[in-house]
Amino acid sequence: MALVKLKFEARGAIAVLRLENPPVNSLGHEMRQALVDGVERANAEPGIEAIVLIGGGAGFSGGADIREFGTPKAAAAPNLLAVLREIEASPKPVIAAIEGVCMGGGLELALACHYRVAVPGARVALPEVKLGLLPGAGGTQRLPRLLGVEPALNMIVSGAVVASEKLRDSPLFDAFAEGDLLEAAIGFAGRVVAERLGPRRVRDLAIVMPNAEAYFQFARNTVKAVAGPYPAPLACVDAVAAAVGKPFEAGLKRERELFTRLMTSPESAALRHVFQAERAAAHILDVPKDLAVRPIQKIGVIGAGTMGGGITMSFINAGLPVVLLEMKQDALDRGLAAIRRNYQGALRKGALTETTLAQRLALITPTLDFELLRDRDLIVEAVFENMNVKREVFGKLDAVARPGAILASNTSALNLNAIADFTQRPQDVIGLHFFSPANVMRLLEVVRGAKTAHDVLAGAMRLAKTIGKVAVVSGVCDGFIGNRMLARYRAAANDLLMAGALPQQIDAALQEFGMAMGPFRVGDLAGLDIGWASRKRRAAEFPDRDFSDVADELCEAGRFGQKTGAGWYRYEPGSRQPIPDPQVTAIIEEYRRRKGVTVREVGAQEIVERCIYALINEGARIIEDGTAQRASDIDLVYLNGYGFPAYRGGPMFYADQTGLGDIARALRRIAAVPGTDTAFWTPAPLLVRLAQQGKTFNEPKGSP
Ligand code: NAD
Repeated sequence: MALVKLKFEARGAIAVLRLENPPVNSLGHEMRQALVDGVERANAEPGIEAIVLIGGGAGFSGGADIREFGTPKAAAAPNLLAVLREIEASPKPVIAAIEGVCMGGGLELALACHYRVAVPGARVALPEVKLGLLPGAGGTQRLPRLLGVEPALNMIVSGAVVASEKLRDSPLFDAFAEGDLLEAAIGFAGRVVAERLGPRRVRDLAIVMPNAEAYFQFARNTVKAVAGPYPAPLACVDAVAAAVGKPFEAGLKRERELFTRLMTSPESAALRHVFQAERAAAHILDVPKDLAVRPIQKIGVIGAGTMGGGITMSFINAGLPVVLLEMKQDALDRGLAAIRRNYQGALRKGALTETTLAQRLALITPTLDFELLRDRDLIVEAVFENMNVKREVFGKLDAVARPGAILASNTSALNLNAIADFTQRPQDVIGLHFFSPANVMRLLEVVRGAKTAHDVLAGAMRLAKTIGKVAVVSGVCDGFIGNRMLARYRAAANDLLMAGALPQQIDAALQEFGMAMGPFRVGDLAGLDIGWASRKRRAAEFPDRDFSDVADELCEAGRFGQKTGAGWYRYEPGSRQPIPDPQVTAIIEEYRRRKGVTVREVGAQEIVERCIYALINEGARIIEDGTAQRASDIDLVYLNGYGFPAYRGGPMFYADQTGLGDIARALRRIAAVPGTDTAFWTPAPLLVRLAQQGKTFNEPKGSP
């Protein structure tokens, strides 16, 4: 194959091979072939005495081509191992010139070269562990030989990105240049030739480690303690141990075995799914990728309460100036004080300096005056969840905001289309549904109103990236994607409570499944009084319907959750540790008796099945009615906003892994139980259709 992605240039006796494969010079099949051809050609040309490998654009190389994942191209010959073998075997010395990104397979490529020259600012990493894998092209064998076992193992197990300056004096780099990288690398290559240093192969370096056994035992224990359900970190330790204990080729073989095992593990499949899902989410199906978006630099936030404060922090953390508006001075002062308080933890941990904090806080202009919002590009409203208040605020905004400004609401449950219609410019209105605490939670539901303009939507998605959020587009419906599903999950948990399970049993089963916290613990954390108040409001609104809930009884007994030291559990003063409480059991039993329900034995498997399948069934409806663009978006919502375990890839991916046919059958079985809400449990039409066709929610190429 022609050298399609590799530029060959002779600079005197030095051949310069430049990787040209934007954006990150990934090592897809064509590039791999081109590398083999390029090195072969340089070796064949008599005038050439050394070879410099350098990357154009973003840097050296970002490693494997993710677009090839799961396709035959990923393994097509020559695979990366074979390419690296060729390069390492080159009789003419090969010098890697490293700048920008040098990660994964990119770093493995550099390690197979005979020398490495770098500049400051390069980002070096073996991040495979973050995808549930390990470096599978010799990284676990070569890095310890060069860098030393302990620092290499730390990099491989953590996947952390290390700045090249930090490795400046390490054996990883043979030279460190401050100026032009290519010139430095050619100069270095010239010296290698002049001094007849020849190829120096990392594989030939010996590892001497007298206390290896004890060290690896210690490493395994440490890693096991933090790896949780993921097999990859321990496999990384095993692979590095093989580098120490075995000859190079045998070590490579061990690395390959471990890599193959991880590649077929469900945990890695889930993590790779999440990785791809995050990239897919940014793409809005009916909006061209290159659409010009409205620039967003100056922000306004209305309301300095729980959400407004966190939202303001998200923007100033990214360096964006915020005008923060409140109704009254004391609310503004309270809001600003809360923001300062929220930074204290980071200050104490040394993650933030006083100077940086001062710079960030200086980006906030506090005000009571709507006039100051006049020049803002985006204004986010986070006032009370009340339609009349929203009407008043959006009316004022309409009068004051400049034409083209984006007007956003953080509403959780109100109709965004109605809010948009409070203005004369509904096309400029969008929902930005942040999650609490907004400065911490990565999820942002970008709510698309019926009239929201394309460039507003695309602009919001771009902004989300700037402030480090995982943004998912949601249509307008009750609860948007996340809370609409959560309502089903909670209802399922409540049914189980009525059927005979206790809060601690339900929480334990779901936590065992991997949820960060069971629903009753979450309830205690959020406060049970919010739901109680809302049920009372709805009962007044619809007097003929029954909104009563066992949680009402808890609230009537003063049990509002953690903040009152008691809710579904009791809490010792100052502790967040939930303790099952016989008083709660008594309240639940009494409530069941009054409602005349027959109590039965409920097992952990049934708990997980009902709660998780309720999520999946609603997710299917959400895809079908177009509220979500794709199944993987739903997964992102649940992973980043609701504590779903990443190693299960999100509810829809979990459904795919479980088998849609099995799930549909289980749902039908539940729906047929007398007394259950049949409409709720009947499998969604999309789920049934996909199951019949033997398909999945997340099809390998594109989603339904
Ligand atoms: P909050 O009560 O903590 O804060 C609301 C703030 O808005 C108060 O400080 C109040 O003084 C101010 N305010 C009210 N009317 C105003 C007006 N006309 N002009 C200026 N300021 C005004 O409420 P919150 O929890 O921050 O919720 C705000 C919004 O965010 C709501 O729409 C809510 O549904 C939504 N939301 C909340 C959460 C959450 O977990 N709390 C999560 C997502 C979305």
